[in-house]
Amino acid sequence: MTTIHHYVGGKAVAGTSGRQGDVFNPATGERTGRVDLASRAEVDAAVKTAKAALAKWAATPPVVRARVMFRFKELCERNADELVRMISAEHGKVQSDAKGELQRGLEVVEFACGIPHLLKGEFSENVGTNVDSWSIRQPVGVCVGITPFNFPAMVPMWMFPISIACGNVFILKPSERDPSTPFRIAELLTEAGLPAGVFNVVNGDKEAVDALLTHPDVAAVSFVGSTPIAEYVYTTGCAHGKRVQALGGAKNHMVVMPDADLEQATDALMGAGYGSAGERCMAISVAVAVGNKTGDALIEKLAPRVRALKVGPGTDPDAEMGPLVTGPHFEKVKGYIDEGVREGAELVVDGRGLKLQGYESGYFLGGSLFDRVRPDMKIYKEEIFGPVLSVVRVDDYDTAVKLINEHEYGNGTAIFTRDGDAARSFASSIQVGMVGVNVPIPVPMAFHSFGGWKRSIFGDHGAHGPEGIHFYTKLKTITSRWPTGIRAGAEFVMPVMR
Ligand code: NAD
Repeated sequence: MTTIHHYVGGKAVAGTSGRQGDVFNPATGERTGRVDLASRAEVDAAVKTAKAALAKWAATPPVVRARVMFRFKELCERNADELVRMISAEHGKVQSDAKGELQRGLEVVEFACGIPHLLKGEFSENVGTNVDSWSIRQPVGVCVGITPFNFPAMVPMWMFPISIACGNVFILKPSERDPSTPFRIAELLTEAGLPAGVFNVVNGDKEAVDALLTHPDVAAVSFVGSTPIAEYVYTTGCAHGKRVQALGGAKNHMVVMPDADLEQATDALMGAGYGSAGERCMAISVAVAVGNKTGDALIEKLAPRVRALKVGPGTDPDAEMGPLVTGPHFEKVKGYIDEGVREGAELVVDGRGLKLQGYESGYFLGGSLFDRVRPDMKIYKEEIFGPVLSVVRVDDYDTAVKLINEHEYGNGTAIFTRDGDAARSFASSIQVGMVGVNVPIPVPMAFHSFGGWKRSIFGDHGAHGPEGIHFYTKLKTITSRWPTGIRAGAEFVMPVMR
């Protein structure tokens, strides 16, 4: 049994609060570790350490900060097998999926390696006679990242590489369910040459989060997790004067038009609905079939594929889907399937009752498929976050768009069609932040920005890309005149450039 400590000031720091959480292997149900849960005093100490490292790091040339990122990326690649095993062991996702997660995270590190270019700013010569003006972006200070269980490497990497490349110092409060990977990331950053105190990990639960959100020396908070907590983090952080971006939950719809390539659409729904056991904020959880014929054909193609899903532990190279993350989450997802049946949806494939030999205590659920789900049902309205796909049938394209636009979440969506007009109109009118055209999981690349709309985000900035640079920097604009012998005299009116 391992104990995962905090990582502060370039080294592991054992918890002193006397409180710990359990870490499980979801495939076996075994407790594999304990994680220290920080008290307010431990959070204070971490913020103090980070703050002490700020001035020197902020004054370090961006090109030198970028070199640390280059070395960190190399180290992650050299240690990729270990990181992948770690992610899979505590989260449960299959190792091929964990590898993809790491790759998507490292793409943000690659983006951050370009920081000297990204921070170049703007310059205008002679905005008035002998007056020049330019803008620069400067670090905001002590930044905090609070992250969910479902991407223990990628979501922290949406945040800290850009934040520290911009010259900030960072405190990560990762999910207490899979804390080993973030801790290892901290060690690798130190090995890459990052000065002590620039990146810190504080493990914990609500107590640590509250201490961070109310701490006077914390300048900015990035959060990714469920919507109720995102809203809480946003309102609490803002009330305490912090810059906050809080990304929340989702219910992503994929519209299947009558002219869609149904083989392609079925492949897309399988991967996007059941990959990572549906525990992705960009998972497709609702297929909107336009027309009953499309609905029938889709169900006919999906049902055998869902029944044939290869479910297994993350270590099985043939498995397509692993277990759910914890026992309580397994019960919650199973409860939604029970509820869908009670509400009158048609359960075409029932994933409850799956048993895997040798893994009887694991949190495995087979893939489930519902047909004829209605918008008033709980399984339609709420985020299930499991391997459960709902098919909703609508008569026409306009009803599909209305359905999506009326849903409280607006993270991702997709349309499958061969009709350019429909695709263009969809991309333009849909009230969702990330849109795919024949692409089921339109997660933007690192040099673009990630973010939903409506109750899938609180705050004005998305993650990484240009939005990330803006979130982690403050804009300063300088207007300068050098003595040239021209004297305008005292000006008492609003200054205008001549
Ligand atoms: P969660 O909201 O339970 O936890 C997220 C973080 O908040 C964790 O670090 C946790 O320790 C902390 N936390 C939990 N309860 C808290 C409380 N009462 N007070 C203060 N802090 C608290 O989310 P999760 O179950 O770890 O992750 C799954 C959720 O994250 C899903 O809703 C999913 O859609 C969402 N998610 C969203 C995105 C996105 O980009 N929009 C990406 C990944 C995951």
